[in-house]
Amino acid sequence: MPRSIFWNSFIALALLMTQSCSNLSTKKISSEHKVLQGSYEINSPDAKIYNGQVIWVRTSKDDLSCHLAATSAQVIRAHDGSWGCLLPIPFRTTLGSKEVVVRRQEQVEESVSIVISEGDYPREKISVDGKYVEPPKKVLKRIQQETKLLAEVYKKLWEPEQVDLNFRLPVNSDVTSKYGNRRFYNNIEKNFHSGTDFRAKTGTKIYSPATARVELSQDLYFTGGTVILNHGYGIFTVYAHMSKVLAEVGKTVGAGDLLGLAGATGRVSGPHLHWGMNINGEKVDPMSFMRLFNPNTKKN
Ligand SMILES: [Zn+2]
Repeated sequence: MPRSIFWNSFIALALLMTQSCSNLSTKKISSEHKVLQGSYEINSPDAKIYNGQVIWVRTSKDDLSCHLAATSAQVIRAHDGSWGCLLPIPFRTTLGSKEVVVRRQEQVEESVSIVISEGDYPREKISVDGKYVEPPKKVLKRIQQETKLLAEVYKKLWEPEQVDLNFRLPVNSDVTSKYGNRRFYNNIEKNFHSGTDFRAKTGTKIYSPATARVELSQDLYFTGGTVILNHGYGIFTVYAHMSKVLAEVGKTVGAGDLLGLAGATGRVSGPHLHWGMNINGEKVDPMSFMRLFNPNTKKN
């Protein structure tokens, strides 16, 4: 395999790690932090908007889309019947003043100014088995195939009538490593931590946070026992390092359905759950999503 192809696939796959129905509740979406301009309201998880977070652009119509530089999201209908765009702020983005543009087809409806500040993402040192920092030759093909598979999974379209944004946490436990940490594996800097790690002993039950469709449920080189859920319209969540995956691809799950058992598979230094969120190709902080929609998060 040419070196460049290997490194491209290696980097793409490493990104997953380092940067992972009917009974919808009618719980209302809260709107604590607001930016208001014209007819659109932007809700953010904190008083400031940081790179790597998600924001909710509240709209009243369904044939619109929202844009932030090269990032975009279409308007969806949430579990409480409200309309809006769940817009990801890329981790690697230029900071400062930006325009969120709401469009109807190609026509600009309105432009709302926001300011993106730099998140406080510290350095973190981790010791793992060397084969996960510099993978041996014999696994390169596998890594390449899995990179391709993940790219396919994230292209899967699912357009439910309503998107269940009323998430619970996937495990009843504490956060041990936050999203966005600059990670040094065996003293080599790799990509930023793309999700939130929860303390979870091997065998701890991991649950679905909301209504979703199972798109992947298998063992992967870097993320070990992995489940990927499709919440609709380009919104995905990832559950990694499980000792056992129990979700069935193609099945719809509801909040509280069992996805698997926590473990220490793949590139880890010990057992935990890595929870990732991928919106339209951007790996964002799942806890910013929780603060935005469920400030009083109910644990599973
Ligand atoms: Zn993690």
